[in-house]
Amino acid sequence: MLARSFAIVGAGFSGAVVARQLAEAGHTATVFDTRDHVAGNCHTERHKTGVMVHTYGPHIFHTQHEHVWEFITRFGSMMPYRHRVRAMVGDKAFQMPMNLTLINEFFGTNFSPAEAEAFIATKADSTITNPASFEDQGLRFVGRELYDAFFAGYTKKQWGVDPTELPASILARLPLRFTADDSYFNHPHQGIPEHGYTPIVQAILDHENISVHLSTRFEREQASEYDHVVWTGPIDAYFGFEFGRLAYRTLDFEQHVSDGDFQGCPVLNYCDEQVPFTRITEHKHFAPWENHDQTVTYTEYSRLCGDNDTPYYPIRLVKETDQLVNYVHQARAQKGVTFLGRLGTYRYLDMDVTIHEALAAATAMLKALESNQDIPQFFTDPLGGAKH
Ligand code: FAD
Ligand code: UDP
Repeated sequence: MLARSFAIVGAGFSGAVVARQLAEAGHTATVFDTRDHVAGNCHTERHKTGVMVHTYGPHIFHTQHEHVWEFITRFGSMMPYRHRVRAMVGDKAFQMPMNLTLINEFFGTNFSPAEAEAFIATKADSTITNPASFEDQGLRFVGRELYDAFFAGYTKKQWGVDPTELPASILARLPLRFTADDSYFNHPHQGIPEHGYTPIVQAILDHENISVHLSTRFEREQASEYDHVVWTGPIDAYFGFEFGRLAYRTLDFEQHVSDGDFQGCPVLNYCDEQVPFTRITEHKHFAPWENHDQTVTYTEYSRLCGDNDTPYYPIRLVKETDQLVNYVHQARAQKGVTFLGRLGTYRYLDMDVTIHEALAAATAMLKALESNQDIPQFFTDPLGGAKH
């Protein structure tokens, strides 16, 4: 097959994985990122205290995809890690996600698993059969008291809109258990990279057919220098925000350094609406195999993303905006460009889904090239929502 030249815009997991697959098939990949580091939002770095800090917020790797686990562990060692979160309501910390312990502590009961399940069934609103919004999903899932205490306030702070405007899929991320299991995720593979995410992405990009240009913005006009562009930046930015900006939440982190242990767990959520921040992350608990005398915490505040802020979470309102539809139609009319990843498809994607989709996209691109067909603009429908 004729070797082609690809421009890969973005050196996060999406861009790095596609670049690697194309490079291994004999094509050249020139990777650009405006940031001065690879790994996108998953970037990690050592703080002067020695603690490994997740620069853009807490990142825990978890997956049900065997091939994704095999892929990532080829490029770095993953340490066993179980994520445990606590959630403050008033001045009390509860286990999160909702489990038997939380139910008993919140309601002052001593239920067995079966009793707790029967009790929650009396609370859950069974008249909601097809939950469309976050609120519907919450009320159907656990009922009014738990929803108001743990989800309503946190969600308003995190998303800046009323939970009736948000999709049910956001809450569907969280489990409800009638056992004392307080693991945050259910997936069979879970871990934290021994040396952080950035060396893993560096290793993925370490191939003779790949060149990486950091602190370099790729402009659309450069596309003609390559056979094809893979765009993992924001889809609206590709079109110069022609239909206005898609809405994102951005985060501000307030960093504190102190001695010892600050909160005894990696993430403590603050569910009350009157507390101005959403959660505090204590980074050293992501690496329980390391020892540090000092500790680094991030107090996390969420707000609407401005023009010069980092886009973190796409705000997917229940009423899909015409804006996104316009961008997707515009994109489908383009030749020579593929949109991929969290920003390129404007979806709330975990790392493993990002890698899964990037691997699938690369395979489909290579197939298209072999059969002399045009490479499609999308491999997952951005109007179809996130898949987990
Ligand atoms: P990104 O990592 O955003 O990479 C895109 C890159 O493109 C960026 O580096 C950007 O600088 C670059 N770029 C954009 N435009 C241009 C341009 N014109 N020229 C050059 N470069 C450009 N996932 C999990 O699995 N577990 C977690 O615990 C988890 N926690 C998260 C916590 C937070 C606070 C957030 C925001 C996300 C979390 N995620 C988590 C999701 C995870 O961050 C994403 O799945 C992942 O970063 C997506 O990778 P990506 O390559 O698609 O996008
Ligand atoms: N959520 C909540 N209270 C909590 C934890 C989560 O209301 O204590 C809601 C909130 O809307 C959040 C969503 O559940 O955005 C998904 O939570 P997750 O922990 O997966 O969020 P992420 O780590 O991706 O920000």
